[in-house]
Amino acid sequence: MDVVCLDLEGVLIPEIWIEFATQTGIDELRATTRDIPDYDELMTMRLGILEKHGLGLNEIQEVISGMKPLEGAVDFVNWLRSEFQLIILSDTFYEFADPFMVQLGRPTLFCHRLEVDGTGKVTGYKLRQKDPKRASVKALKNLNYRVFAAGDSYNDTTMLSEADEGFLFMAPDNVIAEFPQYPAITHYDGLRKALLDASKV
Ligand SMILES: [Mg+2]
Repeated sequence: MDVVCLDLEGVLIPEIWIEFATQTGIDELRATTRDIPDYDELMTMRLGILEKHGLGLNEIQEVISGMKPLEGAVDFVNWLRSEFQLIILSDTFYEFADPFMVQLGRPTLFCHRLEVDGTGKVTGYKLRQKDPKRASVKALKNLNYRVFAAGDSYNDTTMLSEADEGFLFMAPDNVIAEFPQYPAITHYDGLRKALLDASKV
């Protein structure tokens, strides 16, 4: 059975940091992997802003508790798991993702961990490995699985290039323009069809 690797934020759930920026009114927190390709640079900036405003994990989890998967995402994931094996490859953190995983029926998730002190202050983060999305796809291919992947952002493009077939899903125009080699799909029905077509080859 083929494996599908999906990005999480922007594909199945809204961007957590954008929602947090909206709720707190801190515009600087609106930047995502769509704007800043270097993830370390992006996270270092985010932690600096949190510290400046005295915000921590508790405040972020409070916002997350009011969020839901994107419209249609739950049905899409249910369908996907009837046809493929699904692994979610995300640059988010387990400390953020759990409420969404419950709503999505607990698919397998490979992501990162935050470092948090006793007061809830986010003191750092632990990336599981370098270029984790590509490394995960590569490892699955080493196990002789055929892998299809979809994501919306810069941090997905190495995963898309490593996969047997890669798709941009609901990607912004700048990413679509920079990576014209990947079909750009805009809704779940389109991705369903693209994955089925890829699996029939
Ligand atoms: Mg994303």
